[in-house]
Amino acid sequence: MSELMHVGVDLGGTTTKMALIDESGKMIDKWAIATNTIDNGSHIASDIGASIVRKLGQLQIDRSEISGIGMGAPGFIDMATGFVYKAVNIGWENYPLKDELEKLTGMPAIIENDANLAALGEMWLGAGQGARNIVCITLGTGVGGGIICDGEILHGVSGMAGEIGHITVLPKNGAPCNCGKSGCLETVSSATGIRRLALEALDYNDSDSILRDIFEDKGDISAEDVFDCAEKKDPLSLVVAEKAAYYLGYTLGAISMVVNPEKIIIGGGVSHAGNTLLLPLTKYFKKFSLPRAFESCTIDVARLGNDAGVIGGAWLAKTKIGRIRTV
Ligand SMILES: [Zn+2]
Repeated sequence: MSELMHVGVDLGGTTTKMALIDESGKMIDKWAIATNTIDNGSHIASDIGASIVRKLGQLQIDRSEISGIGMGAPGFIDMATGFVYKAVNIGWENYPLKDELEKLTGMPAIIENDANLAALGEMWLGAGQGARNIVCITLGTGVGGGIICDGEILHGVSGMAGEIGHITVLPKNGAPCNCGKSGCLETVSSATGIRRLALEALDYNDSDSILRDIFEDKGDISAEDVFDCAEKKDPLSLVVAEKAAYYLGYTLGAISMVVNPEKIIIGGGVSHAGNTLLLPLTKYFKKFSLPRAFESCTIDVARLGNDAGVIGGAWLAKTKIGRIRTV
C-alpha cells in the first residue's frame, strides 16, 4: 500500500491556513483562505471543505490517498466528539465541527485546540524534534499553551490542561484578563500585557527613556518596542522586560515541577525578542525550578512560525487517523 498524505488545517480569526503534507513531513502544498466570520461563522466549515476538495482536484489526488484532516480551532473543544463549545472570535457556540467537516469532504477529521496543534507541529518537525516531553508557550496577543507528555497532548478531563495563560501569577491587584479573572499570566507576559506594563511604567516614572521617546513620537508603544529598547539597555524597558520574564519564569518553574519537560518552546511574536527575553527567563526558570528539572530542560524558540499549526494538524491525521485507515 502506498503511503498516505495528510491534510492540516489551522483556523484563525482572520485567515485559515491549510497544508497537504506527506508521511515524512514534506510539505506538498500549502495555501490559505480568508476566515468568513459573518453569520456566526456558519460559512467557515463549508469554505474549508470546498477549498480542500478543490485543492485535491487541482493536484489530481484521490481521497483514498489521504488519511484525513487534522484541524486546529481556537476555543474550547471536546476532543472525543470534535465539538467546539465556544470560540468567541469565530462566532461558534456548540458547533459540531468534526461532523460538518467529515460530511463536507467525505474524509475523517480530528479537531484539536490550536495551541495544542502548534505544540504537536513543533514536536514533529520544529524545535521539539526528538523530544517527547514538551511545554509550548505562545506569547502573542494572548498566551497560549500546549503540553505534551510522552508524545501525547495533555488534555485533562475537560480539555483545560495546558491553559498556561490563565494561571494566576498575581493573586492580588492583578489586571483584568479576557477570561474574566484577573492577574493571569496573560495579563503580564503576552504582547498585550507587556505593552500595558510599559505604559504603566511610563506613567509613574518620569525618567528619561528611549521608550518614552518612541511613545511621544508614535503616541503608542508595542511589546516589540520594549524589547528593542531593552536590547539597547534602556533602564525602564529592561525593568519591564525583566518583569514579564519573571512571571513567565515563575510559571514555567511551577509547570516543570508538574510535568518535568525536556524542552520548553517559546513561540509567538514576543519570542522574536530572542536573548533579551530568554536570558532573564532562564534565570527565573532556574530560580523557581528544582536543579534536576532545570538541568534536564532546555528553553528554545519555536522554529515553524505560522506553519506549526498545519504541520501539527497533519501529524494528528497521520498518527490518529492514518493508523485506523491503513488497517
Ligand atoms: Zn485569564
